Amino acid sequence: MSRTFVGWPAFPEAAVAATSDEQLRANVTRATGTIRAKRARLVAERPDWEDLRDSAAALKNDVLAHLDSYLLQVEQKVTAAGGAVHWARDAAEANRIVTDLVRATGEREIVKVKSMLTEEIGLDNALEEVGISARETDLAAAIVQLGDDLPSHVVVPALHRNRAEIRDIFVREMGRHGRPAPEGLTDDPPQLAEAARLHMREKFLKAKVAVSGANFLVAETGTAVVVESEGNGRMCLTLADTLISLVGIEKIVPRWQDLEVFLQLLARNATGERMAPYTTTWTGVIPGDGPQTFHLVLVDNGRTRALADEVGRQALRCIRCGACMNICPVYERTGGQAYGSVYPGPIGAILNPLLKGPDDPQTASLPYASSLCGACNDVCPVRIRFTDVLLELRHQVAEGDAKVKHPAEKAALRAVGAVMDHPAAWNAAVRAAGKAGPLVPKNRLPGPLGGWTDSRRTPDIPKESFRAWWKRTEGGSR
Ligand code: SF4
Repeated sequence: MSRTFVGWPAFPEAAVAATSDEQLRANVTRATGTIRAKRARLVAERPDWEDLRDSAAALKNDVLAHLDSYLLQVEQKVTAAGGAVHWARDAAEANRIVTDLVRATGEREIVKVKSMLTEEIGLDNALEEVGISARETDLAAAIVQLGDDLPSHVVVPALHRNRAEIRDIFVREMGRHGRPAPEGLTDDPPQLAEAARLHMREKFLKAKVAVSGANFLVAETGTAVVVESEGNGRMCLTLADTLISLVGIEKIVPRWQDLEVFLQLLARNATGERMAPYTTTWTGVIPGDGPQTFHLVLVDNGRTRALADEVGRQALRCIRCGACMNICPVYERTGGQAYGSVYPGPIGAILNPLLKGPDDPQTASLPYASSLCGACNDVCPVRIRFTDVLLELRHQVAEGDAKVKHPAEKAALRAVGAVMDHPAAWNAAVRAAGKAGPLVPKNRLPGPLGGWTDSRRTPDIPKESFRAWWKRTEGGSR
């Protein structure tokens, strides 16, 4: 049975385990540092970068504002081009649709093009339950699958693994799922890539059914688009007889020409490449060329819930470039698995609670998994204002179901709010804090406040407030 994040501990617990894993931290720091530097170099080449970001955000906002009509347009265009469109409200419905479609073909092993959505809904497990094995063909996704592991990044799911670990996984596992690793395999990257190529080629050539996601879905033509750097996806998308594509309803772009904006942003921001090596597009079915049966499954699974959140809906603009993960100081220390979802890092910290609601016990702590430094705001190609959404979600969590989240925090915030509403009470509280400062323990605060000092020292509380200092010195003039 494939592993999933179901039952995974909430972030505070998972992060403690992750931060004490030195190998993991070293792997994540090295990988994110390399990608960050490449991205910064390539982005600096484009004087129109900020304009591209504005265009992308505006296009996505238009999609979200008129999602209903764009979705119907997609359905009409795909159907007219010989494809079949299915609608799935949630993960269970999406999995049922896909398992029924694959069973109808009689196939027992299928190939997959890397897709976050299939991980989000737990498709591999649903297929395994009815005796169908789904094999990943993206190199990083295949490393995760062969290692019986979980993904830690949206672009490079095996980012937390180093070369030596990957070599060990290949030697140990490849033979159990098809062509074994070559004798004497070392951790030299070309050798590892060749071993993966030989192992997967066998799968592509045999597979009659492929399952994919899509980076974009063009409403005016009904065209699905996959962007990748290895070409393995293209093998699946062209060689199989039946293609089933699962796409989140937010992946739409209105017109073919809009791809121009997103394709210029995506690869440069994701991996520091000027253009992705492979961009594959398909529109329904073309007789005698490529898959002769095409199913498009449009999946909601919480997206309309997120859309209803006025501040949070901007998270649906995400094009999954991963740049917010690569820049995030929290992600760099914990890696992606601590977030308990296929969407880690800053986008995971906002998207998961938006999809599941602020009272979900696994995701309620995620809006707090941020230092609010705002570095993610600066790199996001669709201008998601993470800090605004994080603060709004923290507010929702604090106001939410007390069984899930801290009643003490709720009471404390109410008390602070009441004091801040009354200037005299606020000034008295500030004076009292200055006097009590030396008595506050440095290493561990008492009671429920102790959680805050588990990994930090209490800051020094100044004896005098800024206002008092200003008054005393007339703004520093005496
Ligand atoms: S939120 Fe923005 S930066 Fe993060 S993965 Fe999505 S598009 Fe990229």
